[in-house]
Amino acid sequence: MLLPDYEARRNRVLRKFREAGIDSLLVSSVANVRYLTGFTGDSSWLFLAPGCQIILSDTRYETQLQTECPGLTAEIRDAGRTVLDLAIDRIAAAGAKRAAFEAEHLNFATWQALSNRLATGPANLLPASGLVERLREVKDRSELAQIREAVQIAERGIGVVRSSLRPAQTETDIRFLLESAMRDFGGCGTAFEPIVGVGPTAALPHAHAGSRRVSEHPVLLVDWGAVSCHGYRSDLTRVFITGKPTKHIEKVYNTVLMAQQAAIAAIRPGALCSDVDRIARSLIADAGFGRFFGHGLGHGFGLEIHESLRMSPLSQQVFEPGMVITVEPGIYLPEKFGVRIEDDVLVTATGCEVLTSVPREFEQSIVGVLA
Ligand code: ZN
Ligand code: ZN
Repeated sequence: MLLPDYEARRNRVLRKFREAGIDSLLVSSVANVRYLTGFTGDSSWLFLAPGCQIILSDTRYETQLQTECPGLTAEIRDAGRTVLDLAIDRIAAAGAKRAAFEAEHLNFATWQALSNRLATGPANLLPASGLVERLREVKDRSELAQIREAVQIAERGIGVVRSSLRPAQTETDIRFLLESAMRDFGGCGTAFEPIVGVGPTAALPHAHAGSRRVSEHPVLLVDWGAVSCHGYRSDLTRVFITGKPTKHIEKVYNTVLMAQQAAIAAIRPGALCSDVDRIARSLIADAGFGRFFGHGLGHGFGLEIHESLRMSPLSQQVFEPGMVITVEPGIYLPEKFGVRIEDDVLVTATGCEVLTSVPREFEQSIVGVLA
């Protein structure tokens, strides 16, 4: 297995300090701490300053930290001290004047306590936004290997579902079967609660699997993903036509597919995320379904299912080699059915590579268990 270079990642964050106008950073996001250290626990903060990289944790994690982060200094608190106490000490010891915290990941009460405690000292407390998240948008080789593994597990899982579809199955039956199949194939869990929707449920972009049966409607939507053994995710959506396909269903399906394929063809380094979004959105609008596609076209993913890279009309981001993103247009016809097709795409040096390979042509989506 390819081992991540956590120290190199931490040094990349430190090199951002000057531009960000800060001289230390408290990393409190669980995913960011994991990305920078390999630590899989929680309730622990990473303190970074020039010449100081230390994880602030507690006795529950003492042994785990030695195993998971052998090269990193850890400060372990006992029950008489809080992680905040440790952080205050570190900020003082580093002589920090512009001490940053992660604006998106510190709750108000903790911020208030931190700022009260620092009010009498020399350090100014400053919000930092997306410093680590921006680095995480571009995946390194070890991360790409993990994402490919998560894709493979998810694809094997849906194969089991597809081959065992029956009219009497409920959405929940399918969800549980899929979750258990992905675990059988080596997944460390599901990337998120799988969305399984029959007919009208599929028209709700983020529906919970419920009691509707496959036999109730010819359209079945499944949005699912796996987690690899080192915490990386995949995210796919497929629609299965379980009954007699109608011209209307075919038109909706092929509009979504055409929009998705046109968007994927436009993904390359230097392309604006909002431009790629517009390509898919305008094709769906031209087919007369514009008001039935309301969400963004895609999102970054990795250690978390939604990461900071976004394709939407508002996104100012530009694609770079190594970024991974979902491409997932949809058309949702309330109380009838919905179609979304979602694949995972890696931006390469010259264009992009689709990492997911579950068949997506309309004919290939016809399973016909109700026929
Ligand atoms: Zn999804
Ligand atoms: Zn998604």
